[in-house]
Amino acid sequence: MSDKKMQVVFASAEAAPFVKTGGLGDVAGSLPRALVAAGADVIVTVPKYGTIASEYTDRMEHVADFYVSLGWRNEYCGLERLVIDGVTYLFIDNERYFKRDYPYGFFDDGERFAFFSKAVTESLQHLPEGFQCDVLHCNDWHTALAPVFLREFYQGLPLYERVKTVFSIHNIAFQGQYADTILNDILGMAHIPNAARQLRCDERSINYMQGALDYSDAITTVSPSYAWEIQTPEYGEGLDGILRRRSNVLSGILNGIDTDAWNPATDPMIHANYSAADMSGKKACKAALQEELGLEVRDDRPLMVMVTRLTRQKGMDLVTYALDRILSGGVQVAVLGTGDYEEPMRYFANKYPGTCAARITFDNALSHRMYAGADMFLMPSLFEPCGLSQMIAMRYGTLPVVRETGGLRDTVAPYNQFTGEGTGFTFANFNGDEMGDAVFRGARLYWDDHAAWDHLVQNAMAADFSWVRSADEYMNLYHNLHPEIDITKPEPVVAEPEPAEPTAVEAEPAAPAPEPAVTEAEPAPKAEQAAEPADDAKAEAPAKAEEPAPKAEPATEPAKKTAAKKTTASKTAAKKPAARKTAATKSTATKAAEKPAAKATATKSAASKAAATKTTTAKATATKATAAKATATNATAAKTTAKKPSTASVTKTATKSTATKAAPAKAAASKTAADKPATAAATAPKATSAKTAPKAAAAKTAPAKASTSKAVTSSATKATAKSAAPKATAAKAAAPKAAAQDSSAATPAGKPAPKAKSVSAAKRTTRKR
Ligand code: ADP
Repeated sequence: MSDKKMQVVFASAEAAPFVKTGGLGDVAGSLPRALVAAGADVIVTVPKYGTIASEYTDRMEHVADFYVSLGWRNEYCGLERLVIDGVTYLFIDNERYFKRDYPYGFFDDGERFAFFSKAVTESLQHLPEGFQCDVLHCNDWHTALAPVFLREFYQGLPLYERVKTVFSIHNIAFQGQYADTILNDILGMAHIPNAARQLRCDERSINYMQGALDYSDAITTVSPSYAWEIQTPEYGEGLDGILRRRSNVLSGILNGIDTDAWNPATDPMIHANYSAADMSGKKACKAALQEELGLEVRDDRPLMVMVTRLTRQKGMDLVTYALDRILSGGVQVAVLGTGDYEEPMRYFANKYPGTCAARITFDNALSHRMYAGADMFLMPSLFEPCGLSQMIAMRYGTLPVVRETGGLRDTVAPYNQFTGEGTGFTFANFNGDEMGDAVFRGARLYWDDHAAWDHLVQNAMAADFSWVRSADEYMNLYHNLHPEIDITKPEPVVAEPEPAEPTAVEAEPAAPAPEPAVTEAEPAPKAEQAAEPADDAKAEAPAKAEEPAPKAEPATEPAKKTAAKKTTASKTAAKKPAARKTAATKSTATKAAEKPAAKATATKSAASKAAATKTTTAKATATKATAAKATATNATAAKTTAKKPSTASVTKTATKSTATKAAPAKAAASKTAADKPATAAATAPKATSAKTAPKAAAAKTAPAKASTSKAVTSSATKATAKSAAPKATAAKAAAPKAAAQDSSAATPAGKPAPKAKSVSAAKRTTRKR
C-alpha cells in the first residue's frame, strides 16, 4: 500500500452553491466535501457559467490556460481555482460556451458539453502541484464523453495510464443524444471505428451517455434499486442492454442529504425546533402550518404534504385520481410545487377549503415548514433514481408514503404491524387505489395507535441519511479501482467525551436539553369529539363512506406497547451501514469482521453518535486486516483487466452490495415481466417472494403475503373494497392489506413491478435536464 491519498477529479455540469438546477447540483455540492472528510483529495471541475455569483468569481484565481481541440476547432480553456471547505474547485472558463443566463437548454449543448468533457480530460495535465489524478469521476451525460476522450486520445500518455474512470447516472432519462454529424464535426472521432461504433445509438444519432457506459471502468447510479431497474427495458430508456452487459461494474450508492441544513433541532426556518428526544415542537409546527395554509387547525386530522415538481414522474396522475377519496376520508393535504399539474391542485384546494391547500410556487422556507409541520409526506413516483424529499421528511419525523421504486424503495422501510418496524408506508404498483390504501394505512395508524405511530416516527428520525455513509461507499469503489491506495480513515484524535447517560434515542447534537429518552405516548388528549370526516365530505364525493371515520383519540395509550416497540426501533437504525468497509468489500472475511460491530450497533438502537463512531472505527480497523487480503486478490484481477474499459471487472465486488447482488437474475426476471403487456389500469399480480436485502425489515413481516391482483376501478366500485371495519378489529381486518402494506415484500425481489408502457415514452425527453 502506498501512502498516497486517493486523488479524485469530480466532473459535474453543476455544483451547489455555484449553480444548481436539481439533485446533481446537490450531490456535486455535498459529496466532494464528504470525500475529503473520508480522506480523499478532491478537485471538482465545473463550467464557469455567467450566472455564478460575484462573491465566488471575485475570489477565483487563474491557474492555467490552454487550448482544447474539438474537431476542426481549437477552443480556449482557462482554469480558475477556488478552495472551499477543503475542496478545490476548478472552473472551466470559456465565455463563448458558458457565459449565458442558464446552464442548459441551448441549441449547441452537444458542442458545449463535448467541450467541457474534453477540457476536463485535458486539464488533468494542469492540476495543482502534487495532485496526481487516480480517479476521474464523471456525472451524467454532460461529462459522459470524458472517459471516451481519455481512452481514445490520451491513453498513451503516462499521466493518464493510472487514471480510472467512474461514471454516475443521476437520471437516465437525460442521455445527450445528437445527430451523428457531431461525431466528425465536433468530436473528431468519425475515423475511430471503435468510438464511432460505441457512441452510435441508431443510424443517425450518437449518444453521449452510451459512450460513457462502454468506456468507464465503473458505473454507479444513485440507489441500489435504480441500479437494477435501469437494467430493465421499462426503466432503461434504451440503455438497459448495455447496462446488463456491464452489470459487473454497475452499482448503486444512495445519495445523502445535508443533515446540517435539514435539522429540526436547529432549523431557523421552522416554527419551533424539536428533536427525537423532545417532539413537542413538532405539534407547534403542525398547528402553525395549518394556520398558515388556511387549513383547519386540528391535531386529530393527519396532515399529509407534498413538496415536489408537479410532474408525471412524481406520480401526480395517482394523486389527482385519489385526492377525492383521501380528502373526504379525513386527511388534510397540502401541496407545494410547480409544474404540469398546477390546475388540478388549485381545483382540489377550492373544492376542499380547510382540508386541502395548494401553494403553486418554489419556496424553500415554506418547504422547511411543511416538512416540519406535516404528519405524512406523499411521494408516489413513477420512477425515482434516489429522491431527497423522502429522506428530508424522515429527518423531520414526517412519515413518508411512497411507491416502491428506485431510491424510495431503498430508503423507506414499510410499516410492519406485527413487529412495529418500518419508517413509512409503501405500495408497489403505479396505481391510484394502492396509493390511497397506503395513505389510509398511515392515517389509520395515526388515529388508532399513537404508540405505534410515535415509534415509527422515532425509527424514521433515527435513520442515517448523512453523506458520510455515501462517501464511504464511493471510497470503497475507488479503492477497488486502485487497491494499492490505502483509504483507511485516520483515527480521530479528539478526546473521548464523558459517556453521557445512556438514552434509547440519541438527542440531536444541537438539541435543547435532552428530555427523557423516548417520547412516551401522548398524554391522553381530551376525548374531544372529532368531527367525522364524512361531515366534511361534499355530496359529490363518491368515496364519502369508503374510509372509516377518524375517531376521537383514545383516552389512554397502552404504555406496554410503547415499551415493547422501543426495542424494535433500534433494529431499523442498526441496519444502516455505518462504516467504510460495508457494501463494497463483501469478501466473506470482511463480512465476518463486520458482524460483531453490527451487533454492537444493533443493541444500542439509535445509539449516540459517539458510540456509533466507536463502532465504526473498530469496524474499520477490523475490516482493514481482512480486507487487505481480499484486495490483494482483487488487485491481480484488477491489473489485468483495468486497461480495457469494456472488460474491467474491478468493481465486481462493489456490485455485490445488498440489492444489486441478484442483479443478473433480476434483470432477467424483469425482462420477462417487461415482455408482458402492461397497462396503466392493470396492476401486477403480487408474487410472494422473499424480501430483498435493503428491506430486510419487511422480510420478517406478515407470514402470509396474500397474492392480490387489483385493477384500477371507478370511484363507485372502490367503495365496496373499504367498508368501515369496526375499530377493535381493524388490525385484523386489515390483514389482507398487510400484504399490500408489505407490498414491497410482495414485490418480486428481482424485478420492479411491471408498469404502464407509456412510462418510457413519458420519460423520453433525453436531451436536456
Ligand atoms: P427531484 O427529482 O426534483 O430532484 P428530489 O426529491 O430528489 O426530487 O429533490 C427535490 C428537492 O427540491 C427537495 O429538496 C425538495 O424539498 C425541493 N423542492 C421541490 N419542489 C420545491 C418547491 N416548490 N419549493 C421548495 N423546494 C422544493
